[in-house]
Amino acid sequence: MDYEIVIGLEIHSELDTNSKIFCGCSTTFGAEENTQTCPVCLGLPGTLPVLNKKVVEYAVRAGIAMDCKIANFSKLDRKNYFYPDLPKAYQISQFDLPICQRGDVEIEVGDYKKTIGITRIHIEEDAGKLIHDSGEGTLADNNRCGVPLIEIVTEPDMRSAAEARTFAEKIKSILEYTEVSDCKMQEGSLRFDVNLSVRKNGTKELGTRTEMKNLNSFRALERAVEAESRRQIFELERGNRIIQETRKWDDDNGESFSLRSKEEAHDYRYFPDPDLVPIVLENSYIKEIEDHLPKLPWVRKKDYMEKWNLSEYDADVLTVSKDTASFFEKTVEACGDPKSVVNWIMGDISAALNEQNISMKDVKFSPGDLGELIGLINKKAISVSIGKQVLKQMMETGESPSKIVEKSGLSQMNDEDELKKIVLTVLEKNPQSVEDLKNGKEKAIGFLVGQIMKETKGKANPQVVNKLIKDNI
Ligand SMILES: [Zn+2]
Repeated sequence: MDYEIVIGLEIHSELDTNSKIFCGCSTTFGAEENTQTCPVCLGLPGTLPVLNKKVVEYAVRAGIAMDCKIANFSKLDRKNYFYPDLPKAYQISQFDLPICQRGDVEIEVGDYKKTIGITRIHIEEDAGKLIHDSGEGTLADNNRCGVPLIEIVTEPDMRSAAEARTFAEKIKSILEYTEVSDCKMQEGSLRFDVNLSVRKNGTKELGTRTEMKNLNSFRALERAVEAESRRQIFELERGNRIIQETRKWDDDNGESFSLRSKEEAHDYRYFPDPDLVPIVLENSYIKEIEDHLPKLPWVRKKDYMEKWNLSEYDADVLTVSKDTASFFEKTVEACGDPKSVVNWIMGDISAALNEQNISMKDVKFSPGDLGELIGLINKKAISVSIGKQVLKQMMETGESPSKIVEKSGLSQMNDEDELKKIVLTVLEKNPQSVEDLKNGKEKAIGFLVGQIMKETKGKANPQVVNKLIKDNI
């Protein structure tokens, strides 16, 4: 291709605090419209905002995890604009002195690694929500007014849809690991704005960029980048100019359309909010947060490889989501057999999760239960294939494996005398296989073991069966 794509992202993430950024209203998602509001977040005259401490702590946590410089002094500013979802007619945000600046996040795309620069992270309040499809004109739900956000702004360092997607996934993972946001994209807890331009390969100067706002899935992000870069290249190839504008991405139709051009853009007339004191952070406060930062995915990955000899691939897959990583660690703690835990989580469990379209968080059994299942197999109380059946029931009912084994009579048959009777019957019924085996055709033993497993509904201990066959031919 003759063109290079240049992408920067602005990521809005709702913080996982119980109360809003400047008042005590609840932030719980999905409550009845306008029930989580008060004079402060409705912007009534005479009210005063008070900054939620947790918001500062969470922003600092995210900043440290993204290798940012944390400001000892930052302030809150008013961004003035009128819109029906913003009763105050201004949003409290941060303008020239954000709380975090100049960070770095490393991504791995295919076989190369790359560092994406973080320009800044600032804190701000969310706006309300307009409901257009009620049949009663447009209604406003102000529950979301004042829900705390961080906005993460990157340098224009990404060069493809794959890089943008990988970066976005990495940010989600960091925010989850640091417990800053629940990152529920279907609830709008994580939203992406894409700034995109193209330029001829080898050119230094950046092309004119467009902005697409509020993409709320990785897939939409990837598709929007692909379609918008194609559109810009197409326009340039035809000799047209790219207009600096905000575009809306329509994921259903796979295309974007113009919302407003730069000429119509707002002048927000930022000024420091006179009702709020600046945010002054001592170094000791920042260090305290750094010291208590939950273990990040790349630290855990390294741990898994060094402590438990996991392959890089396995360690990668297990640390993508914090829920999976925690489940894995707790199960290893319970049974002391990391290799088996990897096999179960990455094999049967992940297949079942995919099939049911649920995540590790929704699993009905505990890490202790999985540890117990592995223990039962290791001490030969049940076979691996019975273990798989037990797991299925654990997924359905959440019952403990020992209970399931006991209830369904699935215990492994280890008793030689009991098994010998079955082995002898099977040998008698299959003289040809016995003959083959005697003549050194080792394949025949597999068939005979299979027959015995069939007789015992998979409960026979395969080692004992093998031994008995060899002893009795
Ligand atoms: Zn409120």
